[in-house]
Amino acid sequence: MNLKQLAKKEVSALRAYQAKEIPCRVKLDANESPYGFRFALKAAASVQTNRYPDPEAKKLKAVLARELGVRPQNILQGNGSDEIIYNLIAAFGGPVLYPVPTFSMYGIISQVLGEKKVSVPLDREFDLDEGKMLHALRKNRPKIVFLSSPNNPTGNCFSADRILKIVEASPGIVVVDEAYQPFSSDKGFLPLLKDYRNLVIMRTLSKIGLASLRFGFLVADEEIIGEVNKVRLPFNVNALSQVVAVEALKNTKALRTAVRTIAAERDRLVQAMEGISNVTPFPSEANFILFRVTDPDRVHAGLLSRGILVRNVADAVRGCLRVTVGTPQENRKFLDALGNCMEKSSL
Ligand code: PMP
Repeated sequence: MNLKQLAKKEVSALRAYQAKEIPCRVKLDANESPYGFRFALKAAASVQTNRYPDPEAKKLKAVLARELGVRPQNILQGNGSDEIIYNLIAAFGGPVLYPVPTFSMYGIISQVLGEKKVSVPLDREFDLDEGKMLHALRKNRPKIVFLSSPNNPTGNCFSADRILKIVEASPGIVVVDEAYQPFSSDKGFLPLLKDYRNLVIMRTLSKIGLASLRFGFLVADEEIIGEVNKVRLPFNVNALSQVVAVEALKNTKALRTAVRTIAAERDRLVQAMEGISNVTPFPSEANFILFRVTDPDRVHAGLLSRGILVRNVADAVRGCLRVTVGTPQENRKFLDALGNCMEKSSL
């Protein structure tokens, strides 16, 4: 019996997501924050290990609702925003439309669930191509559009007016994935939720120092929340994550300071990278920087041989690597190693 053939054809055609751990001294490949919140772990002592978690994550939603100025009924919890993407596609189905290059999970999960996916190239500035997007909307009538803004891996925000035109023209829901919004100078789309019923905002705690907890959430119209809630598995957010997240979120000052430090370091890093010959960094509103080099495979390997792990995204964006902003010391090591690699290449 060929066990591989037992799997659905959409699944056997896939390769497992490469979240493999590559040993390194400086880990700048996964858009994590270099700053954790160990103090929040003390809250874990209150967890009753024999009891299921609060299925509604009420306390955590209340804290988020207060922080964001929305109502708890408009929030839906997920085991990371990856799970939210899964639940959205499970609830609404396809076609699923998204620009490319972008976060790979929109396409992977659509395929796993056997839903049609439609990808539309970004324009030369990595912004939404309004004409092509509107055409794809008319032609495919997608149930869901995913717009990552700031976009991973390009780092820019899409033009707000183009996003709004897509929201207005869309026959289905439009999910603005704001995983990196805290690092951006744009204010994001939360204030517009009241004006557009098909607008959905997705956020995560992963990029602001709490990736280990696996917590992401949606903010949307209560009817949308109600439909997605039907496919959410009970107890999807564990008790340890709930209490630790609540504890960490209480310390808004520490969270904000970390985000501000990372954003300032990012701007410094872009400037410094601009000074390295044959390296072209792109402007970023996120906690990572996309940069172009002549030989990305060689530079990726060269950095790794110096202990620095970045992400090779050349498959998605020609000639490009993506580096996550680390601590000032980590960034210094990265810059030294990159300068070193580039000197070698010009010899
Ligand atoms: N959206 C975007 C744009 C991302 O880059 C990521 C993480 N790489 C996610 C969602 C998923 O985040 P998480 O599942 O950790 O909440």
